[in-house]
Amino acid sequence: MSYDIKKIRSDFPELSIMIREKPLTYLDNAASTLKPNKVIEVINKHYSQEAANIHRGAHYLSERGTTRYEKSREAVARFLNAEFSHEIIFTKGTTDSLNLVANSYGLEFLKPGDEIILTTMEHHSNIVPWQMVAEKTGAIIKIAPINDEGEILLDEYKNLLNEKTKIVSFTLISNSLGTINPAKEMIKLAHEVGAIAIVDAAQAAPHMKLDVKDLNCEFLSFSGHKIFGPTGIGVLYGKEELLEKMPPYQRGGDMIERVTFEKTTFNDLPFKFEAGTPHIAGGIALKDAIEYVEGIGYEEIERHEKDILKYATKRLNEIKGLTIFGQAKNKTSVISFNLDEIHHSDVGTILDQQGIAVRTGHHCNQPLWDRFGIDGTVRASFCLYNTKEEVDLLVEGIKKVKEFF
Ligand code: PMP
Repeated sequence: MSYDIKKIRSDFPELSIMIREKPLTYLDNAASTLKPNKVIEVINKHYSQEAANIHRGAHYLSERGTTRYEKSREAVARFLNAEFSHEIIFTKGTTDSLNLVANSYGLEFLKPGDEIILTTMEHHSNIVPWQMVAEKTGAIIKIAPINDEGEILLDEYKNLLNEKTKIVSFTLISNSLGTINPAKEMIKLAHEVGAIAIVDAAQAAPHMKLDVKDLNCEFLSFSGHKIFGPTGIGVLYGKEELLEKMPPYQRGGDMIERVTFEKTTFNDLPFKFEAGTPHIAGGIALKDAIEYVEGIGYEEIERHEKDILKYATKRLNEIKGLTIFGQAKNKTSVISFNLDEIHHSDVGTILDQQGIAVRTGHHCNQPLWDRFGIDGTVRASFCLYNTKEEVDLLVEGIKKVKEFF
């Protein structure tokens, strides 16, 4: 069956809006994706007909909400191929998930001199929490470097690994370069020295099939809003054995078994890590977002996005004075670039005037741009609903930027 791009685009109402009297060309998908009707409808229905707190009420709405929320957890477990649904912790998003692991696992188990390995291309949310852990525990952070194409230097990564390495935490796909990292191999190497592996799958979830058993990672996180779901909901997958050993991250209602003023015992997994009233509508609608992607199929999505990436790379390379950052052999549909002499924020402003949404700046990757000796880029990021016509609009837009200057 051919890829029905017309049907897919019609599922996303925001793709039909006008921006500054121009049809929206949305190329900021690495920051956040638009939402399909199904997700919007489920959220709307929740707040108009089903809103009630979950896990505690004895009434109909509460019970139904609890069932839906827990069904969504089961859907996420299946989506990630996790062994148990209690290995799925609902969080606010990837940042929250990584902070959970850093605060709970990191602070509990790391000692002075232990080593944490990150890579040059990490998002700030996979750097800053580990800096806190290092400061508080005396652990040391080491950085696996990349080449000029934006690929991990695997030999250098291997050289960093030793018996002091306790944690390796890296992004599966770079949000700025699009590089797809050799995660399975990196995890296997981490395990050989007895370290655990944490995968930031924020950028991977909308583009490739995730399988925590196949990766064999200890933890993996992603954000709902980057996979066509709501903001404010995300996931931390953790291996049961580790989650059981970890102390709670936040404390309060829902995460307890019994509270007295003298002592509190904690609830079972996953609730031990879910203090307070969660983002109920978000959790429920995440299931629909995931099922939307699965309904199209990752093979189809990958084929479509590869085609777009190839076309966009070719067309952008035809523009004189345009440099693309991130030329990895294995990359997804993200293109970071700069135009000679023209500041990225000016490029973004003029594209915006034409209804073209891109991101400009450091994209929460300041150490990465230090590596390239620049302070940021323009980033065009494509996903399952983007078209070659939109690539053409981007190219025309960039030509207008050049004319303007
Ligand atoms: N990691 C990567 C690779 C990302 O791209 C992002 C979002 N830009 C994050 C982590 C943080 O995700 P969130 O803002 O949804 O917590």
